[in-house]
Amino acid sequence: MSKNIIVSNRLPIKISKVDNSFEFTPTSGGLATGLKSFHKQKNSLWVGWPGIGSDKIDKILWPKLQDSLKKNNYCPVNLSSKEIQNFYYGLPNKCLWPLFHYFIEKSSFNESHWKHYVEINKKFSDVVLAKIEKGDTIWIHDYQLMLCPKMIKDSRPDVKIGFFLHIPFPSFEIFRTFPRRKSLLKGVLGADLIGFHTYDYERHFLSSVKRLLRYEVNFNKINLGIREVVVNTFPMGIDYDKFNKAAIDHHSRKASQQTELKKQIELHKKSVKDGKLILSIDRLDYTKGVLNRVKAFEQFLNKFPEYLEKVRLVMLTVPSRSEEPQYKKLKKETDEIVGRVNGEYATVNWTPIWYYYRSMDFDELIDLYSSADIAMITPIRDGMNLVAKEFVSTRINGDGVLILSELAGASKELFQALTVNPFDINSMSNTIHDAINMGIDEQKQRNFSMQKRIKRYTVKYWADEFISSLNEISVVQENGVLKIDNKSSEIIKENYKKSSNKLILLDYDGTLVEFNEKPGLAIPDSETFKILKDLSEENDVAIVSGRDQHFLDKHFSDLKLTLVAEHGYFTRNYAERWSEKANFNKDRIKSFKPILDSFSDRTPGTFVEEKLNSIVWHYRKSDPELANSRVVEFKTVFDSLSTDELNLMDMDKAIEIINAQVNKGSAVSEIISNKDYDFILCIGDDITDENMFESLPKNSYTIKVGKKKTSAKYYIKDPRQVKSFLSFLTK
Ligand code: UDP
Repeated sequence: MSKNIIVSNRLPIKISKVDNSFEFTPTSGGLATGLKSFHKQKNSLWVGWPGIGSDKIDKILWPKLQDSLKKNNYCPVNLSSKEIQNFYYGLPNKCLWPLFHYFIEKSSFNESHWKHYVEINKKFSDVVLAKIEKGDTIWIHDYQLMLCPKMIKDSRPDVKIGFFLHIPFPSFEIFRTFPRRKSLLKGVLGADLIGFHTYDYERHFLSSVKRLLRYEVNFNKINLGIREVVVNTFPMGIDYDKFNKAAIDHHSRKASQQTELKKQIELHKKSVKDGKLILSIDRLDYTKGVLNRVKAFEQFLNKFPEYLEKVRLVMLTVPSRSEEPQYKKLKKETDEIVGRVNGEYATVNWTPIWYYYRSMDFDELIDLYSSADIAMITPIRDGMNLVAKEFVSTRINGDGVLILSELAGASKELFQALTVNPFDINSMSNTIHDAINMGIDEQKQRNFSMQKRIKRYTVKYWADEFISSLNEISVVQENGVLKIDNKSSEIIKENYKKSSNKLILLDYDGTLVEFNEKPGLAIPDSETFKILKDLSEENDVAIVSGRDQHFLDKHFSDLKLTLVAEHGYFTRNYAERWSEKANFNKDRIKSFKPILDSFSDRTPGTFVEEKLNSIVWHYRKSDPELANSRVVEFKTVFDSLSTDELNLMDMDKAIEIINAQVNKGSAVSEIISNKDYDFILCIGDDITDENMFESLPKNSYTIKVGKKKTSAKYYIKDPRQVKSFLSFLTK
């Protein structure tokens, strides 16, 4: 039976040594809690670091640990304490975490961190590869493992891979500053499905892919030649029932069953008439906006002194990465600001801030959530923020106010909260006042809508949605177009060898050579020459190109080839002169030159190329989004001015105006009419090559380079594979 393999940096457990054995305790935190229920319900294997350095476990106990992990379907990636130090506390924490949360000044890159990142990603990938069985699905998580999708895909292209990023993906302008930006993007693109919490993160990711890798993006699909990657938004939810039921249970508890924390809160409530509790819960991390929150509370007390001795902030900060200097500094600053506010406003009976620096267990959290009147969750950046959702789920009577930062992913879903800009201290302090004074009906109305959403889009729903979207993606073939693989290559070769009159028709750019920003530099290498020479010794070979006669003469006149220039306008058999297709009025095409020039003036990175019988506007080097909108604009202009005589072709990062009567299809029809071929092979990559595919007899082998819409029978990945396929034929 096939299984789902979850891959995350940490397994969702803490391990401690007890006597001669090990004890597991589940870890908290968004990802761990979220996926735990998914792991339990499905045939699932969870791969990750078990949370204890391999050097800390003596050899005798090792099999015992392996055994207990296996029982829970956990598969450990064994990392020593040093590896963890170099890896987790290196690139992910010192560079990616701050950068992706827009703390560019806190983000530092160094080569050795990158080296460790690559090494450990490889280690994770190797463990996964050893566990993969036919039909398995792999789901990789988060910023620590962004290279794993490609590492796994390269070895197992048949396996479906999903990747989910739990933190924000920053805008292109931030992401572009990362020195290994292309490798990181390519690493993630090994996945077949990539998920983000919000549409903004998805948009930023696609924009980086378009701008940095120049890949073709159609809505949420990225074209990688032979493969397509789907990108989508899956906002992570929580286990609503668990929180809601626990709140109901706590509500009915007798005083003797209450936690110490609850008793303390009750005492506070009794001692202050009309008192209000504001709750804040987060890990002590600079992204969570703790300092700004305390400042806003301070300003509130200052501006609205009538609430002194009435309103208290209960601030739970959970220790996180506490050995790191930046986190130590934040701890010190938090202690200081809390001390200052308490020092300034405390009275004999009242301290404005109750500050806890520890983690709390589930029972205590429920008490905090359900006793608070207001939750103030104001991160400076947060991928999602589950605490906000958990607070709303515990409001069993519908009361309570959520103040939520607009820079938390959760704000996209919980828009009925009082949303704030966490940098605007003044407005946050006023929002506290608004929250305190919000009528009960309004509170209920807002919470009702939010609860409805959280109840429906739970963590289970999230995981199921992701996995079913992943399952819908086909990794092998699409629309009946077959892939050129070992099997199909063999079949074609067999027929090739059997035939005596063979014709090979090859497009040039994007088929025999990769595109180049400067078309003059996309020239054939010695390997291409050798292949063409070998092929043309036994067969008729034609290069059917959009290039002009001069270019084709310059590079191919030494070989025994038929050359077709300007998409069929000129043809030249080996040792003959060029012949030209029927005349037509070239002035019609030339009249578009000034219009295209003005488009170029307004679109940096584009240029106009004049050919003898056509005109091309190239936009490969321009901003892809700007270019797309300019193409749409130009098409409108073209439609209003053109006649049936002309066609506008969508090329690869270019548009070309050509004579409608002349195309590659008519050119190849002429070639095949001269001889009775028993084997025809035609390879091309763009829209102009479709005319060839459609004009050839049904039994021809037609191959499209790249996975695009086509009438060809086969796909092949890229020019490199075209070359190896062609040389395989001649061997
Ligand atoms: N949490 C916990 N104990 C605590 C504080 C928080 O178990 O003392 C849990 C909380 O219930 C939530 C998670 O930690 O599920 C925090 O997730 P969130 O997305 O809010 O922030 P992250 O820490 O993942 O950035």
